[in-house]
Amino acid sequence: MRNISLGTTGITVPQNAFGALPIQRISTEDAVYLLRKAYDGGMRFFDTARAYSDSEEKVGLAFEGMRDKVFISTKTGAGTKEKFWEDLETSLRLLKTDYIDIYQLHCAAKCYREGDDLYEAMKEAKKQGKIRHIGITAHKIGVAEDIIQSGLYETLQFPFSYLASDRDIKLVEDCAKAGMGFIAMKGLSGGLLTNSEACMAFMSEYDALPIWGVQRESELDEWLRFFDEEISMTDEIRDFIAKDREDLLGEFCRGCGYCMPCTVDITINQCARMSQMIRRAPSQAWLTDYWQNEMMKIDNCVECGICKTRCPYELDIPVLLKKNLKDYKEILAGKEV
Ligand code: SF4
Ligand code: SF4
Repeated sequence: MRNISLGTTGITVPQNAFGALPIQRISTEDAVYLLRKAYDGGMRFFDTARAYSDSEEKVGLAFEGMRDKVFISTKTGAGTKEKFWEDLETSLRLLKTDYIDIYQLHCAAKCYREGDDLYEAMKEAKKQGKIRHIGITAHKIGVAEDIIQSGLYETLQFPFSYLASDRDIKLVEDCAKAGMGFIAMKGLSGGLLTNSEACMAFMSEYDALPIWGVQRESELDEWLRFFDEEISMTDEIRDFIAKDREDLLGEFCRGCGYCMPCTVDITINQCARMSQMIRRAPSQAWLTDYWQNEMMKIDNCVECGICKTRCPYELDIPVLLKKNLKDYKEILAGKEV
């Protein structure tokens, strides 16, 4: 397994890390089991966030008494310095630690700079030793580019998978040039990509640390096996990726859910990508009464446009939903998938 050094932070870990968002959906016992298994299997970097309900608490329980053996990054979505400090103290308490390796401003809408309350709070937290490194996460490429140019952050977390554009890839290269660590979120593009070997082989070509979201033991096992079976890019995998990119690229929903809630309760993050999901997973799972009912809610869209203002990929969500519904209705009527 290749090791990745995160810029000039001094953090060097295997290029195979744990994204702790999904463990908020499972019991504490199961989450602690998965986190420890990930550690035993070779993972050393664990990424969580204040916003992931009880994820920090589970991470804290899993690594109690062995804090120095792992690297933990977490995030604050604070908008004020008061909330920043409240979040930081909560994260420290739940993670059962007196320091956070990388503290990140979560889903930053802009690059916070010297003089901005949030950035000044970051500097103070680092001075006090409560955080070791200043990081940030973004979903908009322009914001991410500003962050790198600012030279103010030690790590950037950004979506990165084999569906990446040339501009996304340049971000990774620019981070390396700027001495910044690049943490890759959504390496499976929100569940759209299912070939873990191809995802890992792609990642191995870049100085990026993927944090794979793990909820089930079978998913964890997929990633842990790469500690034993070294994966690198081959012609066969390259051909597979090229074909998959051809099928998927364009206007597609990554399933992140940032656009929600919808005014009329449409499950946008699943319904806006139903056409892809239904062709990539066993179709029957998406044709149940439950999903038919969810899809039919698209007809209730009042085109208020609120979701569009929240989508980091600037998708025309009402149009995308209608396209998916049309396709779905045709499938229900017998069209082959
Ligand atoms: S535009 Fe339609 S999908 Fe978007 S929030 Fe409004 S009602 Fe929901
Ligand atoms: S429409 Fe945009 S914000 Fe909503 S789930 Fe899809 S990619 Fe995310």
